[in-house]
Amino acid sequence: MAFTKKTVRDADVAGKRVLMRVDFNVPLKDGVVTDDTRVRAAIPTIEYLKEQGAKIILMSHLGRPKGDGPEPQFSLKPAADKLAELTGYDVKFVDDTYGEKAKAAVDALQDGEILVLENVRFDKREKKNDPEIAKTLASYGDVFVLDAFGTAHRAQGSVVGPAAYLPAYAGFLLEKEVDTLTGIFAEPERPFVAIVGGSKVSSKIGVLDHLIDSADTLIIGGGMAYTFFLAKGYTVGTSLKEEDWVERAGEMLKKAEDKGVKILLPIDNVVADHFGEDAEGEVVDSDKIPDDRMGMDIGPKTRELYADAIKAAKTVFWNGPMGVFEMDQFAAGTEAVARAVADSDCTSIIGGGDSVAAINKFGLADKMSWISTGGGASMELVEGKALPGVEALLDA
Ligand code: ADP
Ligand code: MG
Repeated sequence: MAFTKKTVRDADVAGKRVLMRVDFNVPLKDGVVTDDTRVRAAIPTIEYLKEQGAKIILMSHLGRPKGDGPEPQFSLKPAADKLAELTGYDVKFVDDTYGEKAKAAVDALQDGEILVLENVRFDKREKKNDPEIAKTLASYGDVFVLDAFGTAHRAQGSVVGPAAYLPAYAGFLLEKEVDTLTGIFAEPERPFVAIVGGSKVSSKIGVLDHLIDSADTLIIGGGMAYTFFLAKGYTVGTSLKEEDWVERAGEMLKKAEDKGVKILLPIDNVVADHFGEDAEGEVVDSDKIPDDRMGMDIGPKTRELYADAIKAAKTVFWNGPMGVFEMDQFAAGTEAVARAVADSDCTSIIGGGDSVAAINKFGLADKMSWISTGGGASMELVEGKALPGVEALLDA
């Protein structure tokens, strides 16, 4: 599906003040960025604007400050430093967002210069999408660019606000994310295999529902598999289960059958007598889970079954680990699926915080076609929802 909003390519930015919302919500340890993925992801748009001779004003949130003023541990300064380090550009930083100091720093900008404002969430009004916040931010720019995919699902002051006052365009990251994650529903190369795991059915119901509309095969793993087992009449011992969602899981299986979508559930499982680092795994078939055991991972036969389905795929979307991958003895299922995706010559699209962490843990990130930078935002797209940040942009 083509992206339906205007992008920076459509904007006249030479010599203009470009106010850009980025997602620099990076993890910090002792004031140093420990994962710079999100800073890197914003660079193509920043580079483009700089080459065009724009004055670039970057803003973002970082962490969850109280919103009553500056909190040093949530300062964006380390992210600004990281941007300077990665690009070699001179990146200015001002420890103010909505006040006179910020305004003065903006006014001093020359063409091609870059300024990072302090954390937009140091003021409560940002999260409330207060129009005063939006007006102040908009006064810094002639043009607004949204490239913060990770927060595009939040209708907050710095995300949607400036679009009410300035012509608003998408950055390259936002465009690519939306294009990729909606593309799997528009015209996926088939067979399209969707893999969904993680802990709960309840948190993935919209994702499962929408994927059944588009996928040829739906692979299910992780804790949610056990609620599907209940729907099929199996007993699941002490496994994670959501009794209230059994009926819905059953409806999902029925819907898939009606649509001719193949659903793969685990045929065997690694089970343990308790949930813990010291728990020992044993393998049992899915219809023979003992009353005092809980499912922690997919078993070896299932790994093979899933890998075969993935091998045949032309498109793969994956969200949610196959087991409790944080514990090494229950990581084999997630690793096997990750390796199968990495080895397949399909287009592979990965979404979700823990799934991405798992792929990084196995060192397979560069084998994937696209790893989404947004957890919540990517899930909302896969549920078929529109993102408020994107909606606010100019139509192409
Ligand atoms: P993502 O962040 O990729 O969307 P989720 O947040 O839905 O994924 O789920 C990830 C969590 O699911 C992990 O912490 C993992 O330990 C847990 N999980 C996976 N399989 C099981 C299982 N069989 N029992 C309990 N928890 C599980
Ligand atoms: Mg998660």
